[in-house]
Amino acid sequence: MNSVVALNRDWPVVDRVRSLIDGESPPLRAGGIDLPIVNPTTEEGLAVLREADATEVDAAVASARRAFDTGPWPRMDINERKDILYAIRDRLRAHADELAWLECVGVGLPLAHVRGQMQRMARSYEFFAEVASTLHGEAYTQAKGWLTVVTREPKGVAALIAPWNAPLSLASMRIATCIPWGNTCVLKPSEYTPLSVRRMVEILHEAGLPPGVVNLVNGRGAVTGSALVSHPGIDMIGFTGGTATGRDIMTAAGRRLVPVALELGGKSANIICASADIERALDGALVGIFANNGQQCLAGSRILVQRSIAPMFIERFVERARNIRVGDPLSPRTEVGPLAYRAHMERVLSYVDIARAEGAQLLTGGRRAALERGWFVEPTAVLAASNDARVCQEEIFGPFATLLEFDTLDEAIAIANRSRFGLAGYVWSEDFATAMRCSREIRAGTIWINTPMMRELRAPFGGYKESGVGRDGPASSVDFYTELKSTIFPLDPPPMHRYGA
Ligand code: NAD
Repeated sequence: MNSVVALNRDWPVVDRVRSLIDGESPPLRAGGIDLPIVNPTTEEGLAVLREADATEVDAAVASARRAFDTGPWPRMDINERKDILYAIRDRLRAHADELAWLECVGVGLPLAHVRGQMQRMARSYEFFAEVASTLHGEAYTQAKGWLTVVTREPKGVAALIAPWNAPLSLASMRIATCIPWGNTCVLKPSEYTPLSVRRMVEILHEAGLPPGVVNLVNGRGAVTGSALVSHPGIDMIGFTGGTATGRDIMTAAGRRLVPVALELGGKSANIICASADIERALDGALVGIFANNGQQCLAGSRILVQRSIAPMFIERFVERARNIRVGDPLSPRTEVGPLAYRAHMERVLSYVDIARAEGAQLLTGGRRAALERGWFVEPTAVLAASNDARVCQEEIFGPFATLLEFDTLDEAIAIANRSRFGLAGYVWSEDFATAMRCSREIRAGTIWINTPMMRELRAPFGGYKESGVGRDGPASSVDFYTELKSTIFPLDPPPMHRYGA
């Protein structure tokens, strides 16, 4: 049993985060590796993570395999499966404060922001349960004398890998799009932020999910993650994370011809036209880069401002960025918390020198925030000299805005598209034709017009180019997580050649 350490306020945290296989923590093996889990706000140890080695990954895959090959989940009446997914929704809602607190303490995301994510997380289980309950097949009778029936079946055991920037939302999206059709899975969250995900997987079981449907393994990508994605018992891989890792995973999957769905990085353009409602565009540009502590795949991190309004817009953007309240993510006033781990903070700060070396002008921020402790970075903005600069081409993934100026819409669209990424694009303009043209011509999976990041579960979400392969969404999840089967019946016994008769 894990002993529990009280953290003075609110909820307890287990002292050692373990895997969860068949609904239980596996025995602790002697000589296993423990990794520290550190609170990014206080830099104090919160717990340790016991890393799952290849043997433990093997046990998790075996559990998911059993649950798929012989367990009740894929064979259950859809109404029964739906009842369990609804019970999961309800129990996640009932524990929303606890989960939000764990996310806040473990990742450093501001509590107010995380609370909204908890509601969306619970909703995603309900939404995909609904989609699964309306799944239907096809029947063909055009060929005279034959009936062909096309049915969908769950595909099998999924390896699901999640990142650290919004651990609960992103791990939940992976699970909620995978299991409603009858699949089972092994989930590996990020080694930096395992606390909230471990509690969420416990809650799934408390809500009645049969053991083995969702197994959890914890550990580093190169150890636990790599053992999982190359395991022969896996039928498909759903991955959310960085582009370089996505490339490695697709290579590993290619060797075994296992299908992959990849949600990867971004460097999305946020185009502010002179025809924009400037107040809303300003608010939207700030949300676009500083929400979630700037650690968002879909951040509007390249802010392109039309030259005629640039001096005014940039001055106001900088003034607002300087006023952002950076601090303890548990405080309801905090707008930006710490970055998730030290090496990431150092990486984000390294882009200040990179920007300077390439001729960019530092407009504000650029330093570790002057707080006693914690991995805080001042909200930072630079004005780049060219879209070719690294700060325009590389995902920085922190509270770091790169601004650029443009003259014409042609130029803005060309800049938006000169990127190896294509996750999202934002446009601010009151002119309908301008908005429509950007929607048509920007090569990205989602375009937000006059709004920051509204996520519509009914619509596909994912990236063009190096931002991903496949989409999350009802139709694309059905395609990815189910197999199609055609069964052919003769309506009248058809004539047949009789070999050797
Ligand atoms: P990362 O790629 O370093 O790690 C993601 C996950 O993959 C972690 O759990 C990690 O342990 C695991 N991993 C690493 N190497 C592995 C390997 N060889 N085999 C198997 N698993 C491995 O990414 P990160 O730093 O955790 O997350 C940030 C990145 O995620 C950013 O690039 C961000 O844009 C992207 N992201 C994309 C989306 C999206 O929906 N497109 C959403 C959130 C984050």
